[in-house]
Amino acid sequence: MKNSKRDIRSLTKEELKDFFVSRGMKAFRAVQVYEWLWKKGVADFDRMTNLSLEMRSMLKEQFELRAVHPAYHQKSKDGTIKNALRLYDGLLVESVLIPSGSRVTACISSQVGCAMGCAFCATAQLSKRRDLSVGEIYDQVVLAMKQSEEYYGHKLSNIVFMGMGEPLLNYKNVMGAIDRITSDEGLGMSPKRITLSTVGVAKKIKQMADEGAAFKLAVSLHSALDSTRSRMMPVNRNTGLKELMQALEYWYRKTGNRITFEYIVWKGVNDRREDIQALVRFCKRVPSKVNLIPYNPVDAYDWQPADDEVLQAYEQALKRENIIVLRRESRGRDIDAACGQLAGKGE
Ligand code: SAH
Repeated sequence: MKNSKRDIRSLTKEELKDFFVSRGMKAFRAVQVYEWLWKKGVADFDRMTNLSLEMRSMLKEQFELRAVHPAYHQKSKDGTIKNALRLYDGLLVESVLIPSGSRVTACISSQVGCAMGCAFCATAQLSKRRDLSVGEIYDQVVLAMKQSEEYYGHKLSNIVFMGMGEPLLNYKNVMGAIDRITSDEGLGMSPKRITLSTVGVAKKIKQMADEGAAFKLAVSLHSALDSTRSRMMPVNRNTGLKELMQALEYWYRKTGNRITFEYIVWKGVNDRREDIQALVRFCKRVPSKVNLIPYNPVDAYDWQPADDEVLQAYEQALKRENIIVLRRESRGRDIDAACGQLAGKGE
């Protein structure tokens, strides 16, 4: 039998207030419940101890609390932890925790699987199963905060939406989760510590800018030539680089925040001079920096990372134009926890 109860965490605070008031109860009950759900993060109505037993059972009758349950985790040689989380409907989703000095970064998923079909990414092999709810995104962060203290003795410092899925195709829930992660009624984290990474959904980038986004934006670029980008990232066949750039210029005008381009260099794909020149030209149009990320091998594909000389040529060309470029190292590869390797292999 399909359960028709609503997930209580899909309600806004206002909706919770309406619920209590419409049943002849005081609105402040909603404030109490909201606090249990988000700030205190309880996974069970029985832990809402400032509510009467009747009130708790009334909530249980009306709602479900669809918390995420850690299924298992793996630890990499380099300290990276990959979590598999069980969702209320039995699906699994992965999140990753990456320590680096005194910094700890949580890599969060926004969907189960992904519909973008990037030619190099393991998650693409899963296709999209469903969007994650606000609560399911939030729970990944709560778990990361606990693990960060427990395993590394440091507070969680950063959150990146670079796990499974395309965050801008689950826009409402991702924004809802970021609201609660950054709000004092939730986890109270600064939006400056959050990076949303996207394939580049132009309309949604503009919408975020209009809504006053204060977090950072990263775009998986991988090529500044339409033909090459369309080959590697099908999204580019609909939203080409011209439209993407217009959205990014708009983002910068509205938010004043520089954009990070994520860029992998593959042998025989984007390792020519003209690829480098195109990237330099693209970056000059909007304040940006480039993260050169190593290609993490995925069993199903046989792309090869480019030679180091090519990476050096990219670096030099960007630096010559005063564009900041960073060579990122790969983390958690031995447990398939690195970028583009999340594919729920454990299941
Ligand atoms: N859908 C979002 C976020 C998830 S992917 C996006 O595309 O940005 C997070 C990052 O991992 C992206 O930059 C993506 O291009 C990169 N990535 C995917 N597969 C990879 C691989 N095999 N090796 C290295 N990075 C990969």
